[in-house]
Amino acid sequence: MVDRKCVGCGKIKPREELLKITKEYKSGKIVIEPNSKTFGRSAYFCYNKNCQELALKKNKLNRVLKTSEDLKGLLDGRKY
Ligand SMILES: [Zn+2]
Repeated sequence: MVDRKCVGCGKIKPREELLKITKEYKSGKIVIEPNSKTFGRSAYFCYNKNCQELALKKNKLNRVLKTSEDLKGLLDGRKY
């Protein structure tokens, strides 16, 4: 079992209870819930709006992923 830390609330949870977002190593593209072939810098957060907002606050998620992309716009269309 691999545990990951939520960027929002900071809790450690099993991988499958967290949403994964990855910046692809080669293209720099941001992928939400990438498949196993996607390699790059990743961040995780709980499947809820609150943690998503916390993760986006002060560009936290952008900093973790080292990207300037509009992550809020990307994530806003998601359902939880
Ligand atoms: Zn969380």
